[in-house]
Amino acid sequence: MKTAIVTGGASGIGLAVAERLRSQGYSVGTIDLTSTGDDPLAQAADVTDRAQVDTAFAAIREALGPITILVNAAGVDGFQKFTRLGFDEWYKVIDVNLNGVFHTIQAALPDMLEAQWGRIVNISSSSAHSGQPYMAHYVSAKSAVNGLTKSLALELGPQGITVNAVPPGFVDTPMLRTAEGRKLLGGTVEEHIQRTPVRRVGRPEDIAAACAFLISEDAGYITGQILGVNGGRNT
Ligand code: NAD
Repeated sequence: MKTAIVTGGASGIGLAVAERLRSQGYSVGTIDLTSTGDDPLAQAADVTDRAQVDTAFAAIREALGPITILVNAAGVDGFQKFTRLGFDEWYKVIDVNLNGVFHTIQAALPDMLEAQWGRIVNISSSSAHSGQPYMAHYVSAKSAVNGLTKSLALELGPQGITVNAVPPGFVDTPMLRTAEGRKLLGGTVEEHIQRTPVRRVGRPEDIAAACAFLISEDAGYITGQILGVNGGRNT
């Protein structure tokens, strides 16, 4: 059975992806800044730190074998008026959301190239489609992740590796509720539901279902795609 690593696997969407893949029989290791304890399958690492990423991959590889599936869900949001956005704040959001994806894909590729089979799914954001005021750094990073996805799909397709992105709309996770609590969403989640065609907020399981499909054998002819999971908010 194939082995997956899910980043951001301690919370929200990453947690739901890890649970979904385990329920389907995949062997799954997670990497998250907030992981604690000695479980070799739940590695504590900062995706912006290449040495930490390499160490975490090595530990999961030792426990489970070669890694041929990677879902990048680790991320941080950010809200700041552009005229007040300092470079440090800009860089931190770019570092986690974009550079983190660079590091984990590079760490995962040797096993995928060896196997001549691989699946990479990057969780970007519907804001990359629509733009979002006060989130220039976040939207820039997530847009770049979509671009990285398309480029790597072309580069890695001949080696049997597919690369796709899932940009969620509003998904009910700690990240969303924290932003709501700070009045940063331009309305409550309930108000956004009324503007969402399917009239509900997204669930982490909705994103996990899309990821489960994209990593399946059935999705082998799908690569370089940006599969919106947003209840129809962006079409
Ligand atoms: P979340 O805050 O519940 O989970 C994110 C996880 O990433 C956390 O466990 C956190 O510890 C981890 N993380 C953050 N920085 C890290 C780092 N440097 N190294 C390792 N781990 C790190 O948020 P979520 O809503 O589940 O978000 C998951 C992904 O989905 C993120 O990339 C986010 O940008 C994206 N997203 C979420 C929504 C939404 O509405 N919730 C919408 C669009 C995109």
